[in-house]
Amino acid sequence: MRWLGAACLAIAPLLHAQGADPRATVTVGSATAKRGERAYGALVVPAGSDSGTTIQVAVINGAKPGRVVAFISGAHGTEYTSIVALTKLIERVDPKKLSGTVIVVPLLNVASFEQMVPHINPVDRKGMNASYPGNPSGSQTERALAMVAEQVVKPADVVVDLHGGDLDEDLRPYSYWMRSGNSAQDSAGRALGIAFGLDMVIVSDVDITNPARTRSLSGYSLLLGKTTFVAEAGRSGLVTAEETGMLVTGSLNVLAALKMIDRVVPPAPKINWVGHDQRVRADSGGMFYAMAARGSRVVKGAKVGTITDYVGRKQVDVLAPQSGVVSFIRGVPSLAKGSTIVTIVEVFDGAPPPWAKPAP
Ligand SMILES: [Zn+2]
Repeated sequence: MRWLGAACLAIAPLLHAQGADPRATVTVGSATAKRGERAYGALVVPAGSDSGTTIQVAVINGAKPGRVVAFISGAHGTEYTSIVALTKLIERVDPKKLSGTVIVVPLLNVASFEQMVPHINPVDRKGMNASYPGNPSGSQTERALAMVAEQVVKPADVVVDLHGGDLDEDLRPYSYWMRSGNSAQDSAGRALGIAFGLDMVIVSDVDITNPARTRSLSGYSLLLGKTTFVAEAGRSGLVTAEETGMLVTGSLNVLAALKMIDRVVPPAPKINWVGHDQRVRADSGGMFYAMAARGSRVVKGAKVGTITDYVGRKQVDVLAPQSGVVSFIRGVPSLAKGSTIVTIVEVFDGAPPPWAKPAP
């Protein structure tokens, strides 16, 4: 008891100092940054029912206080443009000139990246953008996401989730405005999505009372009351300076809009508001040939591609399921039963409609 009393005396001034600046020091995994510092480290996910993994992180703790923004990509480890963009963002944010804290996680799904397996974590075949809030005693994806949820998502005020066309996706760049129906949260997400600067925004309404809709990073972030949006650029394994630049510039624009860096947010482009995506999935395997370009406008019933068997005989044409814009179309011939062939988004006539509770 005497020992405890002495310890309390020693700790009291420290607690007071921490109360004045709760983020004088920020730690994520093994990365610890004091104010004005950039630190690198990792979330080390120990082995459990399957192997462990190491997710590298950077923490940029600004010299002055401000918001906490988490940038995350690589849930899909072969969406290279988004992953490369976030590695470049880290060096572009100067901790000495930053107000607030930036946490950057460029590559969540290391096994997907290293083994070049799209869409899933090949270790446990689970989706790393479909398993929040994770589970500390689950399989690798669940154990990793439990750490990301606690150490990256929960401390953040704003969560930016970056993606791109995967190995099999020829994708037109766009953002998602994820709406919960909470007007303050939705307008904050809209403002950051517009500041990001991509000129097509897919409006996606989420019912956060439906657990199935809060298992993605953005859905989970909405559930926790965070400001969030998703942006995508890149396609089919290509990494171009143009598309990487869109994501780096957009991320810097978000920090500027939050007044965390000294940068003028460029005027917003004219936004094409779209929504209600309809996708066509393959009924069986085959070889796919795209006949519509990413980003092109199509009318319902238009031929957007054709499928042959493996000796070149035509099997079926693929028709647009609705009128709208091709947000992405399959960029490779490979098809398996259930593969997404094309996604068409409806174009809103002017401003998007108000939030509506989606059907379960
Ligand atoms: Zn993705």
